[in-house]
Amino acid sequence: MAAISVFTACWVSALLAFSAWVFVLLLGRNRMFRGTFVEQANIFCMQTLPGNVDRWLRAGISDAFVRRAETLWHTLFGRRNPVFQIFAIVLYLLGLTVFMMEAAPMIPNRYVGGWQWITIALTLAVNIGTYAVACWVDPGIVDATNVDQACSLFKPDGLLYFQDHVCRTCHLRKPARSKHCSACGRCVQMMDHHCMWLNNCIGLNNARWFLGFLVSFSTVCIYGSYIFATVLLELRHTRGLVYAMVRDENSGELVPLSFRASILYLLDENVLLAVLLVLLLILTPAIVIFSAYQLRIVSLGYTSNEETKWLNVADDIKDEVLFVVENDDGKTEYAVIEKEDQPADHRRKRLVIDLAQVDNQYHRGAWANLRFLMSPPATNRPKKTHTN
Ligand SMILES: [Zn+2]
Ligand SMILES: [Zn+2]
Repeated sequence: MAAISVFTACWVSALLAFSAWVFVLLLGRNRMFRGTFVEQANIFCMQTLPGNVDRWLRAGISDAFVRRAETLWHTLFGRRNPVFQIFAIVLYLLGLTVFMMEAAPMIPNRYVGGWQWITIALTLAVNIGTYAVACWVDPGIVDATNVDQACSLFKPDGLLYFQDHVCRTCHLRKPARSKHCSACGRCVQMMDHHCMWLNNCIGLNNARWFLGFLVSFSTVCIYGSYIFATVLLELRHTRGLVYAMVRDENSGELVPLSFRASILYLLDENVLLAVLLVLLLILTPAIVIFSAYQLRIVSLGYTSNEETKWLNVADDIKDEVLFVVENDDGKTEYAVIEKEDQPADHRRKRLVIDLAQVDNQYHRGAWANLRFLMSPPATNRPKKTHTN
């Protein structure tokens, strides 16, 4: 029993630590956690810790080794590469193989019918299908053939995006809501982020497939956990653990085996089932939290990339440097005027004191945002034609 307790303590601790880490990483910079422990933990994980590790490496190891480590780090995290995509696919296939080997023979059981195989197959098919499409579809790359069309899709709001900005790398006009992906070396329309697990940018054209993948993966994890639970309960019956008696260590009397002890016994006996449980327990909260986060920012009308920009706007408001300025032609625009320049600026202006006073012109309402994401206007590059 002692070994089981240590085993349980290990995976519960690992699960809690991993979930907390994912939570801090995904939501630490979110506006709702400003000035809290969650933001401080995010800064520690993303800046303080890497900085200290870098200093320790430089202090104790040769420059050549540090340069090689930096090159490897840049290749893995700074450039488009399939390492994490392959890792994700292997992990997925591993989970699926263990499920087919250990859990599938127990379906149907006294808790779920054989028809569940139809919903299991459908859920997996949607999940794998959306992943494949999100990986391989053009996310909305901007090039010379579609830059004019891409620029006409959204008007610059003069706050996050500006007229006639040019990408320093692509040397093309930057459409509003686009971003240059440094990993892929290209500008992408309505760019959300570069996803290393998909080895692709998430942008205008594949955001719907990405969202479909997240929602279906959440379903796979939650549904998988349910099926897994029925398999464990069924095993309690087939192994005769439901009415089993054990001798109490203290009194020496025969007592009924508790539910908790019977489950731990089954997991201890079958390591593959325990591995599958840990995979499900780690993945489910992480993927559900991330899916909820993505759905939330869609409903609020901004991308992950724009969330950072809105945080900068919030900082400007806090620093009292963001104004609505009236120009000579009577038109108004947003302007950041630093404190030291404010006395010399004689334009008619109004200080923005609250984020609520700033309009997000890309927000059309939660439902309309989702509809736009699900059927974006076509601004695809023309297909290459082969001429003989
Ligand atoms: Zn670019
Ligand atoms: Zn990219």
